[in-house]
Order: sequence, then C-alpha cells, then structure tokens
Amino acid sequence: STTSKGKGKDSDLRSPICCILGHVDTGKTKLLDKIRQTNVQGGEAGGITQQIGATYFPIEAIEQKTATMSKYEKQTLDVPGLLVIDTPGHESFSNLRSRGSSLCNIAILVIDIMHGLEQQTIESIRLLRDRKAPFIVALNKIDRLYDWKEIPNNNFRDSFEQQSRAVQDEFETRLNNIQIELAEQGLNSELYFKNKNMAKYVSIVPTSAVTGEGVPDLLWLLLELTQKRMSKQLMYLSHVEATVLEVKVVEGFGTTIDVILSNGYLREGDRIVLCGLNGPIVTTIRALLTPQPLRELRLKSEYVHHKEVKAALGVKIAANDLEKAVSGSRLLVVGPDDDEEEMCDDVMEDITGLLDSVDTTGKGVVVQASTLGSLEALLDFLKDMKIPVMSIGLGPVYKRDVMKATTMLEKAPEYAVMLCFDVKVDKEAEQYAEQEGIKIFNADIIYHLFDAFTAYQEKLLEQRRHDFLDFATFPCVLQTLQIINKRGPMIIGVDVMEGTLKIGTPICAVRYDPSTKERHILALGKVASLEINHQSVPEVKKGQTAAGVAVRLDDPSGQQPIWGRHVDESDTLYSMISRRSIDTLKDPAFRDQVSRSDWLLIKKLKPVFGIE
Ligand code: GDP
Repeated sequence: STTSKGKGKDSDLRSPICCILGHVDTGKTKLLDKIRQTNVQGGEAGGITQQIGATYFPIEAIEQKTATMSKYEKQTLDVPGLLVIDTPGHESFSNLRSRGSSLCNIAILVIDIMHGLEQQTIESIRLLRDRKAPFIVALNKIDRLYDWKEIPNNNFRDSFEQQSRAVQDEFETRLNNIQIELAEQGLNSELYFKNKNMAKYVSIVPTSAVTGEGVPDLLWLLLELTQKRMSKQLMYLSHVEATVLEVKVVEGFGTTIDVILSNGYLREGDRIVLCGLNGPIVTTIRALLTPQPLRELRLKSEYVHHKEVKAALGVKIAANDLEKAVSGSRLLVVGPDDDEEEMCDDVMEDITGLLDSVDTTGKGVVVQASTLGSLEALLDFLKDMKIPVMSIGLGPVYKRDVMKATTMLEKAPEYAVMLCFDVKVDKEAEQYAEQEGIKIFNADIIYHLFDAFTAYQEKLLEQRRHDFLDFATFPCVLQTLQIINKRGPMIIGVDVMEGTLKIGTPICAVRYDPSTKERHILALGKVASLEINHQSVPEVKKGQTAAGVAVRLDDPSGQQPIWGRHVDESDTLYSMISRRSIDTLKDPAFRDQVSRSDWLLIKKLKPVFGIE
C-alpha cells in the first residue's frame, strides 16, 4: 500500500535533513549504524551513499527498509530521499544553522528507555526548542527490557505483540515515567501511532539499535513528518543554503571545508563567501568532492569530483584561502547581480550577531568555542543561567584571549575565568593564565563547563567568607542589664534591642562629647560566647529572649576600657560598624546573608559612628 509518486532523481524536490541528538551512551552512534546498514539480500540497498559528514538515503532504500510498516501505514514518498548527518550530538546540530534558525528539518532525540531523561537530553531539548526544530524521540534499547524476544529489523507493533505480559507491563511503566519526565520539561508526548496531534505532541518511537526493531517505524515517521510539516517551499530546490560543518586539511587539496548543502546547487568555479576568523573569506570553488563508493576503493583517488551538486548533500569543497574558515558559518554563492561586499557583511553577521550576548557593563566571563554553532549554544545556555559574558571568541585559545580575562581580576574576580567549549588551549596561553590566576575551564559538554564554573565560584565565595569573616560585622544594639564579670574575661548580661548578636562580633560603646564634638569609640572586644540560661547559642536575635544573654568578650589587644570608669551600665553597646564592615557585607560572599532590616539598622547606626 506504499505509493511512490516516482519523482526520484529528476524531480526538483530536495531531501530533508535529519540530525541525531541525546545524552552520551543512549545509542546515537549505534542507531545511525543500524539505519545505515545495508540490507544483506539487497546488496546496495537501493543506493544508500556515504557522503561528506552525511549519509544519503534515496527514497527507494527507505521504501525497502520500511516495507514491514505497510501493514499499518501508508507512506508518502514525495521527496527524493533523506539526508542523515553522520556526527551525532549537539555540535553538528547547532552548526546546521542559518541566523538562529535550524537547517536541520527534523531531529531524532535518543533517550535510553532504561535511564530516562539525562542531563544532555535536557540540553538537547533546550537546543531543539531554541532553534524551533521539529523532532521525534527514539526510545532506545527496548531489547534490554527483561526477557525481550527479538525479531530483527521488525516494526515495533508486531514485535511488541509477541512479548509476554510482564515485558509489556515493564515497557508501559517505563514509557509512562519518561512521559512524565518529558512533561516536566514542558513537552507533551505520545507513542507515535497513538499520536493524533503531531503539532502539539512529540512522537515517541520505541527502538533497538541492536536488533533493529523500531528502525522501520523511525524511518517511516521521519519521512512522514518532514513531508507533512515542511512547507512546500522548503521541499523545492531554490536558492543556495549551505553551512560549513568542518574545516580540514586534506593531503593534495590543502585546507578544505566540509559543507552541508541544504538547498540549491553548487558548481565548480562558483564564487563563494563565508565567515572567517579574521574577516570574510571570498574564494572560488576549485573542486567539489564526495567519497569514492566502497566498491571503488581500489581506485587511486579517495574522492569523486563533481561539476555540479544538488541539495541536499554533504560535500567537500577545495578552494584557496580556507585556512581561517569558521565551522558553523553560512556559505553564500555570489550571483551575477549580487553585491559581494554586502554578502561579506552578511556572513560576518554570524559572528557580530552573537556580540549582542556580551554584557554591556563589561563584567563577565570570557567565552571561547570551536564553532559558531557551539558558541551560540553556549551563549544561549549562559544566558539562561544568568552568567554574564564579557567577551567571545572562536578557535584555539591564545595568550591574547587570556589577556581579556585578566581585566576581570580587579573588576570582578569571580568572573576572571574562561569558559572554553571544545577548543585547544595553546601552551603559552595556559602558562600565562596560570601565572595571572585566570582559571580556564575546557569541556566538550556544556553542562560540565557550567558545573565546573559554579563549583569554582562557590569555592571562591567560601574562601572570601573565610578571609573576610573578621570584617563582616552584622549590626546590633545592646542594652546592659548587669555586669557579671568586669575583666579577665569581661562578661556582661545584655538585652538585644536591635539586630542580631553573633559570635565573633566586635562590641563597643560610643561616647560623644558635644562641646568638643569628639567621638570616642571604646572597643570592648569580640563576642567569644553567648549563653541563654547557661546554654550556649551561636547568635541571638532581637526579641528572642526576655531573660537576657550572657556575653563573654575577649580582648586580644589588652586595652579593654575599665568597667565603671570608662564605660558603665548607662552606655548603649553596639556592634562595631565601619565603612569597611559595611562594604564587606555588600560583597557577594555575604550579601545573601544580610536582611533588609539589617540594612535599615546599618543606615540608622551610621550617624552614631560618624560614617557618611
Ligand atoms: P552514543 O554515545 O549515544 O553514540 O551511544 P553508542 O551508540 O556508542 O552506544 C552506547 C552503548 O550502548 C554501546 O555499548 C552500544 O552497544 C549500546 N547500545 C546502543 N544501543 C543499544 C540498544 O538498542 N540496545 C542495547 N542492548 N544496547 C545498545
């Protein structure tokens, strides 16, 4: 019951592009391998071809691979085929971009049925949502359900029917839990064949990358959804849309770029414009290359040359001046009526556009990534996490990049770090960072970077809390109830009139002589212990006790005023506030511990101490 409209190779429709994302070890690579696997009986499986960075599935191959679905579903076959990107993960997905939108027409988010949602699953959902890319969920590793009976390469429904009641129950339970986890991420989901509203509900396809079960369902759904949901306009070959996935040196060709052509045609001799590290690159296509088919490997050249290629495909471009090309950059073709300069500005927008994410106060971390796509993904993430960015960069980290971070050492030491995503750090840069005290975090998983950064910040704050504890004086006002011990050590019974009295707080009396306008601050010492009814307490708040608090004051200076002569019961006692103590409480290390009423009290006490 499948119907091929037979548009095939000569049609002017183009193939949709598919990416695979998900947490590490969920089976992305294995699933790709399984999808690619040539059918043994069919030999070449209807011409599945290995391209540059992608595998192309002509519609005939998909028809063959989804044959087992015909019992349940009709297959629409309008497009000539499907292009599946070979490198799974964030990296390639986020590089397939065009001004914030995605050139990936459909994505597969792989979730391990035994593990449910994991950190990178959630990151992937965020990315897919940001780029508005339609996606389906492959609920992988169903063969690991206890006692699963496999039927290789079968459609899911037939396989599921064969399972025991216990297996079916386990499946339902795990599916339900994962649907709940998806709902927590704001996603409604449904098994694809029960899904009546593909626009609102994410479709779930149960799969096994080991047995191949569910793979026909996956392919069927990919084609179904792209054809139903891609607008007609997107399906037809029109203007050139292309992205640089990788920049590579290849023997005999020099620096080449691996490009995914999502739409239009590329021809040998075309003049192209792309984004470079040091400015726009304008050059001419010298060669368009795809890999030699497997059976032709005995031939001399590793590549097949093309005069012209047609979307969608992955192709290697050889040209001059590609050394500084940026992965993730768009690639434009200069037409006869095009303004080359305008196009140069246009491609550089890919970088300059990201400068919007840079904090205008000039405070923040330095961010460096390997590709435009990963830089954009990292910036999106940091924005969500409210981590300000001071400067951005692409490519390997050199000393001059670290120098940007050193300006933070004075301004905001907590941001004197570099967050680097999947880049090389030059030796000299590393040494320089070490010597200047700039922390460089380098990871190829965004959340690892984030975790390392937040842990580092917490460590810094803890260190600051420790270093400045002596200056973090919280405000309080005390009234003496009785003197218990005049000296060695001085112990006073007090009532806390305002604020909070803490252990370690320096206590003083203030005597002001209106005739000389002189203010004498008499330091009594630091609170060594606090007791209410002979019970030690760490702090006492205003109104906490009517019985009074016994305060023991330690005076390491040995210049404690003498009770009864310099100071007595009539003096109001205060925690010793100074400009420095106020500034210390404003520091991020303490800020969160200071309440609004503390600040009000500090304001009230400033005149007592003659602080402006
Ligand atoms: P990736 O990190 O997401 O690319 O995961 P891989 O494809 O490398 O798979 C990780 C591990 O899980 C490997 O040991 C695979 O053999 C295994 N694996 C992947 N898919 C399945 C599956 O469907 N069933 C079972 N039992 N194992 C799987």
